[in-house]
Amino acid sequence: MPAATGFTTLFSRLVANTAEPENDQACWTWLGKCTKRYPRANIRHQGKHRPIKPHRAMLVLMELGDEVEFFWDLYELYSVSELEADHLCFNNPLCINPDHLQWLTARENNDKRHSRFYPDQKTWASNNLSA
Ligand SMILES: [Zn+2]
Repeated sequence: MPAATGFTTLFSRLVANTAEPENDQACWTWLGKCTKRYPRANIRHQGKHRPIKPHRAMLVLMELGDEVEFFWDLYELYSVSELEADHLCFNNPLCINPDHLQWLTARENNDKRHSRFYPDQKTWASNNLSA
């Protein structure tokens, strides 16, 4: 099962760069390199090292499941789209837990930041991210 192995490899590699989570719902805080406060990693692809954004890569991996051979295609597709990987866990740009991430358009992301529906981000996060 090479596909599943590939998926597991990239997934595990990214997770290996995070701090041990405090519990099942906790953030997976990135300990590796960063650019502008956001995680980054270099992945070997067709003999070259290519930079990726791990929090975006995690969302792509979740969507692919076992079909990891399409990773770069889908990753590129999202890169050229206007979608941003939004953190449901506020104020933790280093988190790469896919359960804490969602795709939003730049506009939705901006609306959310200024929305009256999120008056207290900590309360919102604790209500929505715990079991
Ligand atoms: Zn998080």
